Amino acid sequence: MTKRLFESPEFPAVPVVGEDSAYPVHRIFCVGRNYADHAKEMGVEVDREAPFYFLKHAQALVQSGATVPYPPGTQNLHHEMEFVVVIGAPLFKAGKDAVMDAVFGYATGLDMTRRDLQLKAREKGRPWDFGKDFEQSAVLSPITRAEGFGKIDGQRIWMELDGSIRQDAKLSDLIWSVPEILSDLSHYYHLHPGDVIYTGTPAGVGPVEPGGRLRGGVDGLAEVELTLGPAE
Ligand code: MN
Repeated sequence: MTKRLFESPEFPAVPVVGEDSAYPVHRIFCVGRNYADHAKEMGVEVDREAPFYFLKHAQALVQSGATVPYPPGTQNLHHEMEFVVVIGAPLFKAGKDAVMDAVFGYATGLDMTRRDLQLKAREKGRPWDFGKDFEQSAVLSPITRAEGFGKIDGQRIWMELDGSIRQDAKLSDLIWSVPEILSDLSHYYHLHPGDVIYTGTPAGVGPVEPGGRLRGGVDGLAEVELTLGPAE
């Protein structure tokens, strides 16, 4: 066999709540502008034609509870609290009535964003990668199996910065529902176990400084936590 020149990292894995097992994450999809109040605070209209997405590489994943350095290249790191859907079975070109059986479970996540870089890219019609897909930018809680969560309804989604509430909404405020998102994405990608989808953030995004402590949750799921260390 041809010799591999250096060790490549394994895919990261997050624990499943109440089990001695972990779910390996292969791909991270993120939905843009999926709450009307957040689109408004970003100064943009919601596109009612179709949802849109960006991706983060799996190695950007951070376990909840970590302390990470304040990332390089930004003066304006933002928190985005999100409800995360975790795929448990293949999905391809599936109708929205057929997708929920493929959901393994749910988690809470933080889509950390270098807002200054994202907005500069947006202004110039350039890709968002530098604003979104940077090292340690996707924080993920342990996963709760779908049957342990039940129906997606009006569950509260919230986030605190240093103990004061910054984001507070309901999953019923999602513009594109989880079945709509999964069906739509499955027409562009072969979804399979290992794929996780951050479903977008409600209003109240804002900056976090070195030393800032983030804590967020969704009713019925494990909480997500992140502490920002000093810049490297
Ligand atoms: Mn987001």
